[in-house]
Amino acid sequence: SFRCRSAFKLLEIDDKHKILQPGLSVVDCGAAPGAWSQVALQRVNAAGADPELRRGTVIGIDLLNIAPLDGVQFLSNHDITDPATHARLLDLLPNGEAHVILSDMAPNASGYKDMDHEKLINMCLTLLDLAEKILQPGGALVCKYWDGILAHKLQEKLSSVFGSVKILKPKASRKDSAELYFLARMYKKPIK
Ligand code: SAM
Repeated sequence: SFRCRSAFKLLEIDDKHKILQPGLSVVDCGAAPGAWSQVALQRVNAAGADPELRRGTVIGIDLLNIAPLDGVQFLSNHDITDPATHARLLDLLPNGEAHVILSDMAPNASGYKDMDHEKLINMCLTLLDLAEKILQPGGALVCKYWDGILAHKLQEKLSSVFGSVKILKPKASRKDSAELYFLARMYKKPIK
């Protein structure tokens, strides 16, 4: 069983878009309590449950503590926007590279819609710095955001470094919430 209903959002996204494959390396940002990591663990075969398939890697990060899960490496009490966390991930990932970055992270909602929106967009923007350090060319990013006036800015930045960017609203996501996901694929390292 899953630690949280949010698992069904990732299952739905992955069933449709086939992002997670056995053998891939995945970084799960904002991973507590760990349901997305449970899904990723199964889909990339990170615990080696199927010995016939390649074995992948899942690393989950959260500001909060995350209970251990066999086959997943958790960085509890880590801030994914902190460059020190990026350095830690580079060390832990096989060849220092991830194929997929997942982010279901969200700040504690203040109740002020515009402020929460802006805060989450700024957090998502830091994932582009992380991608530059760890994401393989051709890699993918799934990230949650709350819709609002700055969403187009994030979309433009994503479009400048990913070959394809889609907006997803999983059925498992409450209809009345402003929650949406960007699915960005075919990463190209930015030209400096
Ligand atoms: N996907 C998770 C699951 O399926 O179990 C649920 C994630 S929950 C909606 C959002 C998480 O983002 C919270 O646990 C929160 O602590 C985390 N978070 C917020 N800001 C963060 C940051 N800067 N670094 C790491 N995690 C963060």
